Amino acid sequence: MSEGINGIVTCAYLGAAVLFILALGGLSNQEKARRGNLFGMIGISVAIIATILSHVTANHWVLAVGLAIGATAGLLLALRVQMTQMPELVAILHSLVGMAAMLVGFANYFDPKTLEHYVGAALMVHDIETYLGILIGAVTFTGSVIAFGKLSARITGKPMLLPGRHFINLLLLVVSIWAGIVFVMQHDPRTSPDAIAMVGGNLLPTINGLPAGTLALLVMTVAALLFGVHMVMAIGGADMPVVVSMLNSYSGWAAAATGFMLDNDLLIVTGALVGSSGAILSYIMCRAMNRKFLAVLAGGFGTAGGATAAKSAQAQGEISEIKAQEVAELLKEARSVMVVPGYGMAVAHAQHMIARITAELRGKGKTVRFAIHPVAGRMPGHMNVLLAEADVPYDIVFEMDEVNEDFPNVDVTIVCGANDIVNPSALEDPASPIAGMPVVECWKGKVAIVMKRSMATGYAGVDNPLFYKENTRMFFGDAKKSLEEVCKLLE
Ligand code: NDP
Repeated sequence: MSEGINGIVTCAYLGAAVLFILALGGLSNQEKARRGNLFGMIGISVAIIATILSHVTANHWVLAVGLAIGATAGLLLALRVQMTQMPELVAILHSLVGMAAMLVGFANYFDPKTLEHYVGAALMVHDIETYLGILIGAVTFTGSVIAFGKLSARITGKPMLLPGRHFINLLLLVVSIWAGIVFVMQHDPRTSPDAIAMVGGNLLPTINGLPAGTLALLVMTVAALLFGVHMVMAIGGADMPVVVSMLNSYSGWAAAATGFMLDNDLLIVTGALVGSSGAILSYIMCRAMNRKFLAVLAGGFGTAGGATAAKSAQAQGEISEIKAQEVAELLKEARSVMVVPGYGMAVAHAQHMIARITAELRGKGKTVRFAIHPVAGRMPGHMNVLLAEADVPYDIVFEMDEVNEDFPNVDVTIVCGANDIVNPSALEDPASPIAGMPVVECWKGKVAIVMKRSMATGYAGVDNPLFYKENTRMFFGDAKKSLEEVCKLLE
């Protein structure tokens, strides 16, 4: 690459890195999220153009075809995906990052030119980067594929707890470390007994015609792929949010390791940004779910109680049903209304209807607020995105912790398609699979109207004692249609 192009590419990388940081800053706030997204889009465009300019390959046709296929697939997916399928899409995209890190690692390893660029300690460091890139990439790949299966209900949400699962994890870890040592030692001409072939003036250690260390690398890859499957299979339904953000973080670290391997500064910075923001999000999710971060990293967390969903899914008494007319009357009489949205609101596309009712009630001088649980829906920030799309004012949307203590002053709570996040058994039943998870304590208000289609359980598969409480009214039906009826009566 000429000096001039080199300088332009470095400046473009720097600019793109700054844009990514601005994008993250913007995304931390609903009002600036659109601008944050725009920064991210400009940043990635700059990064792609600069990477093409940097002559990553002499074969521009292959590059153009690859870019065209990738861009078309991405565009089609983005156009077709339903909002309710976003979490699955994010999971499968993480798996692609993992797979790319793994494949680039192998391609780089089998490239004989590697040994022309690196000698001595530099080769050892490069080998470690390659090894880590493939390792994290492989875990991310299979872990994300299983997460995709669980989020799209193609695989059961129940935890698969193999006997001796911690021992299996430990064994896979030991195998990975051992294979890593063997790989680095065999691939280094200074320590390899098989350093025989000559390439570009360097010694090339080979075993059976393959670069030395190939077997160790393959053993580690298989162990890492198995670990990814085992880790996510062992995780129970309600703990999936932590897995999604953790895999997000892993995909960032895989990209950063690939950046080191390819000597690409932008990939290192971008990977580190994704990795650390994903790790922070995992930590926030853990706190929200009352789970331990280190237990998450070990995999198979949150299932210690062993209580299965079926066990706690038993009918617990009588329910009181309510119809649209009575709901409208309760709302007309109420002074303070709280809305608790959940995954069902996303399924029903009920956010616009709830926004209309909110505007109507506020127009009549009533206080309307939204209580958002950190794991409501199927991805972090799911409810905030939907409410922003429906133009619900940001200043009436509160986090659960900000409003939970105020429920005794709430006249009517509308639980719109939420279930696990309003389940009192999380606080009252230590044997419950969701025990310890903080929930929106809507039963402490005067009346809670629960909108859902049936008595079915939520994502965690746990029955909900809220439905049987004296001050709960079950409002059955599709959330959007039910709200339409209520809206007509209110208007
Ligand atoms: P839940 O999945 O617990 O409950 C959703 C409820 O919505 C169901 O009980 C369902 O009942 C109802 N529903 C579905 N469709 C409709 C409809 N058209 N109209 C009315 N109601 C409907 O959702 P929550 O938001 O309460 O909890 C989120 C759960 O997802 C938690 O367990 C969380 O751990 C998990 N999770 C969250 C992730 C995240 O990042 N936020 C990621 C992965 C998992 P019915 O079928 O009877 O209508």
